Amino acid sequence: MTQVRVRFAPSPTGPLHIGGVRTALYNYLFAKRHGGKFVLRIEDTDQSRYVEGAEEYIVESLEWLGIAPDEGVNAGGDYGPYRQSERLHLYEEYAKELVEKGHAYYAFETAEELDNLRDESGKAGETFMYNYLTRSSLRNSLAMDKDEVDAMIAQGAPYVIRFKIPAGESLRMHDVIRGNMVIDSSVLDDKVLYKSDGFPTYHLANIVDDHLMAITHVIRGEEWLPSLPLHVLMYEAFGWNAPSFAHLPLILKPEGKGKLSKRDGDKHGFPVFPLRWEKSEDVYDGYREQGYLPDAMLNMLVLLGWNPGTEQEIFSIDELIQQFDLDKVSKSGARFSAEKAKWFNQQYLQAMSVEDLHGDFAELLREKGIERDAAKDKRIVELMRERAVFGHDLWELSEFFYQRPEKYDEANWKKVWKDKTAEVVQTLMGRLQSADFEAESLQTLLHDVAGENSWGMGMVMMPVRLALVGKLQGPDVPVIMEILGKEEVLIRLENFVKEGDQYSKNQ
Ligand code: GLU
Repeated sequence: MTQVRVRFAPSPTGPLHIGGVRTALYNYLFAKRHGGKFVLRIEDTDQSRYVEGAEEYIVESLEWLGIAPDEGVNAGGDYGPYRQSERLHLYEEYAKELVEKGHAYYAFETAEELDNLRDESGKAGETFMYNYLTRSSLRNSLAMDKDEVDAMIAQGAPYVIRFKIPAGESLRMHDVIRGNMVIDSSVLDDKVLYKSDGFPTYHLANIVDDHLMAITHVIRGEEWLPSLPLHVLMYEAFGWNAPSFAHLPLILKPEGKGKLSKRDGDKHGFPVFPLRWEKSEDVYDGYREQGYLPDAMLNMLVLLGWNPGTEQEIFSIDELIQQFDLDKVSKSGARFSAEKAKWFNQQYLQAMSVEDLHGDFAELLREKGIERDAAKDKRIVELMRERAVFGHDLWELSEFFYQRPEKYDEANWKKVWKDKTAEVVQTLMGRLQSADFEAESLQTLLHDVAGENSWGMGMVMMPVRLALVGKLQGPDVPVIMEILGKEEVLIRLENFVKEGDQYSKNQ
C-alpha cells in the first residue's frame, strides 16, 4: 500500500490564522492516524504578497502546538526543497509540457490590454472571460500562426501560459467530505499557469509539487474548492494520478454568519492567531501570549468541523490520532466561540498537576521579585486553581497572599464598616494573640467570638475578609488566616482598623 503523505501548504503572507492552524492539525492527525508523513511546504511564488517573518511564524506556531511536520522547510526530507521559491527552475518545463500536449497555450495580452477588454465588457454589462468563446479572437498561440508565435517568443515578447479549458464537458469530481460533484467546464476560464515574470501561479506550482512530493491526500480549506475543477483537469492533462481531495468547512464568526476574520478578534477581544504578531502597525495578540495551553487550543480547534460521534469533548493528542478521520468532518461551517475556547483552557489547567502549575507560578513570583516558599506557594496554587482559567489568573487570584491590601474601595467600606466594626476587629485581635493558627481551630474561634458577643457571623467575617484580601472575595477566611500566619494577619487587621477610623472621620 502506498504511504499516506499529506501537506500543509501555506503562503507566507502574514500571521497564520486559526483556520490555517486547524488545516495543519487535520493534516497532522490524518498523517499520524494512517502512519504517514506530514509535510510543510511554503508556497511563496507570489512575490507581491510575501511578508517577511511569516514563514518563521508558521514554523514556530506548529512547533508550539506540538504538531511539527515530519518533512518540510525546517525538518528537511527527500522531496525538497520545500520552499517554492527554491523550485522555480522546475515549473517552466511543466507548463511547456502542457503546451506541447495541447492543454495550454501562450497568450500575449499585456495587463493593460486585459484591463481594456474587461472595461469594454463591463460597459456592455458583461464580464470578460478568457475562455473557449473569446480565446480564438485574442492574441495567443491558438489563434495566431505558429511562425508568428515563434517569432514573438524569439524576440522576447512577454507572454503567459494559460490552461485550455475544454468547452461543454461535464466534469466529475470527488471530495472526501462533500462526495461527488459535477460541473459544466464551460463556466471556467483559462487560468494563467505561468506568468510573464517567470513565476508559476499557485495552480501550476501547487499541482506540480503535490505530484513531485507524492502527496496522496490534499486536505485544505473550503476556499480552494472553486479551484478543484481546474486542478482535476490539470492532473488529467499531465496524465498523473490525482490525490484524494478533502475541503474543510469554514470556521464561522461567533454570530454564525461569515468567515471568522481578524477583525472579529479585534471586535470581541479574542485572539485569531496562535502567537503574537507584530509588524509595524499590525499587532495581533496570540493564544500563547494570552495564556492558552497548546493542547487546549488544539482540542478546541479539532472540534470546529470534526464530530467524533460521541459526547466526548476532551481528547488527548493520542486519542485524536486514534479517532480522527475525514469521514466525520462536516460539510457545514463551524461557529467559533471564545467562551468555549476559555472553557477548554480551564479544563486543561485543572487537569495539570500541582507540581507543574507550581513550576510556572514560582517562575512568575521570581520575576516579580517575591520571596518564595515552596510549601506555602503550592498550597496557594492548590487552593486557587479551580477559579483559574489561565495560568496567569493564579497570580491575580492569589496576589493578596503576597501583598498587603493598600486601599479598600468605597463600596466595600459601606457594606462592611459599621459602628461596631472597630470593636469587633479589636476583640478578635485580642483572641488571636494566643490562638493556634490552624484553619479548623480558627474557624471555631471566629464562631466563639461571634457567639459570645451576640454578633452575627457576617459582622465578624466580612471585616476580616476585607482586611485580609482587600475585597469581599476569596477562599474561606480561616484558610486564608492559616496561610498568612499570625503576624501578618494581626498587621492587616490593625491597618484595617486604622483605615476604618479614618473612613468614619471622613463621613
Ligand atoms: N498556498 C495555498 C494557501 O495559502 C495552499 C492551498 C492548498 O492547500 O492547495 O492556502
